[in-house]
Amino acid sequence: MGKNVHLVSLGCPKNLVDSQVILGGLALQGYNICEEAGEADLIIVNTCAFVQEAVEEGLETILDLAELKTRGRLPRLVVTGCLPQRYGKKLLTQLPEVDLFLGSDGCRDLTTRLDDPTTRLVITRPSFLMDETTPRLITFPTHTAYVKIADGCDHHCTFCIIPRLRGRHRSRQPESILGEVAQLARSGVKEIILVAQDTTAYGHDLSAGYDIADLLTDLLTIDGPDWYRLMYTNPEGITDKLLTTMASSERICPYLDVPFQHSHPEVLRAMGRGQPEFDALALVRRLRQAIPGVWLRTSLIVGFPTETEEAFNHLYRFVAEAAFNHLGVFTYSPESGARAARLLDSVPDKVKKARRNRIMSRQKNISRTLNQKLVGTCHRVLVEGFSEETDLLLQGRTIFQAPDIDGVVYINSGQTQVGHLVEVKITAAHDYDLVGEIVEP
Ligand code: SF4
Repeated sequence: MGKNVHLVSLGCPKNLVDSQVILGGLALQGYNICEEAGEADLIIVNTCAFVQEAVEEGLETILDLAELKTRGRLPRLVVTGCLPQRYGKKLLTQLPEVDLFLGSDGCRDLTTRLDDPTTRLVITRPSFLMDETTPRLITFPTHTAYVKIADGCDHHCTFCIIPRLRGRHRSRQPESILGEVAQLARSGVKEIILVAQDTTAYGHDLSAGYDIADLLTDLLTIDGPDWYRLMYTNPEGITDKLLTTMASSERICPYLDVPFQHSHPEVLRAMGRGQPEFDALALVRRLRQAIPGVWLRTSLIVGFPTETEEAFNHLYRFVAEAAFNHLGVFTYSPESGARAARLLDSVPDKVKKARRNRIMSRQKNISRTLNQKLVGTCHRVLVEGFSEETDLLLQGRTIFQAPDIDGVVYINSGQTQVGHLVEVKITAAHDYDLVGEIVEP
């Protein structure tokens, strides 16, 4: 019998792909995946560390799992990803319970590092890129798969330490992505979600001017996946060619996740984002014109140094006028190592929170109004299983809803199977979620 491994994946879907690569390597070594940490011989925490909240969540998770050592079981505890990449040696004394720390490239060679009991910390400059031959174990759900098309970032947003943690932008070869997607299609995956730190930068480092639009066009030649979804599109990287390609096929979700971060020119300048003439609202209009019916998600930061009351009001008006379908707001926190940390954190926490609440309460009304317009209309829904609220309802997502971050559709009538695409008539709308019944299995 092989050994048992228990893995906790924190942070974003890009990290989840790394976690699945770690599990793929371990499965080849004969490890069984176990859900209970208490039954594991090896515990891995794949961490995120891009803001303090994520760091704290990582530390809490590690300390909770380290408790198992004091309760008699002695599983090996390994911490991988952005937390060791960010804090390196400091963690050796801070977390003596941890047997091995590996940085952002930990998923590359974790299996061989495990055999070397003399090393407790390995941090290298991130350079790893998986390819179609990299073993990867997709756990639940199996009808949706994230595909990492690039890693790293060449932008210099002043609040962000991701380029330090994940390295320079590097794109996978198109053949490698197409090969992986073809394999996923053969295994029955219905929804492919393309991820990277900035998917619009895809191909910039490849020869022959191949870009994200070309990749989408080539992906459409693969039979199988019903939906291709594009995440993390940098506002200034969205080209007319990309929009035309997206509008050309029903298999590309009319959904764009565009992290605007702010709308006020002075704040954007201080954030190191956007050319002086960049007009966020004009871009929203351009997106809606190019892809009729497109659903838009964005993320924003409030309370950045230099965000005056006037700059915040600019952002508030932008949110009201843009009427995003999905929106997340972070309150700014200075991150050690980020250039903005040298600016005086001038907006008091109370004001940051109040600004966040004002935007979220405006957004709640917008989201409810947009959802209500869907009542009586029919949409294809990818069924994901029982609802997290109650086993009496099924739960799924429309083409407009990405997993984990957007709302869901609760299905209260009709029968189907997990992983199926069914036609659902929307019968009720809540602030973020929808309710419907199956009209065509
Ligand atoms: S685009 Fe900016 S915010 Fe996004 S990962 Fe790159 S540096 Fe960070």
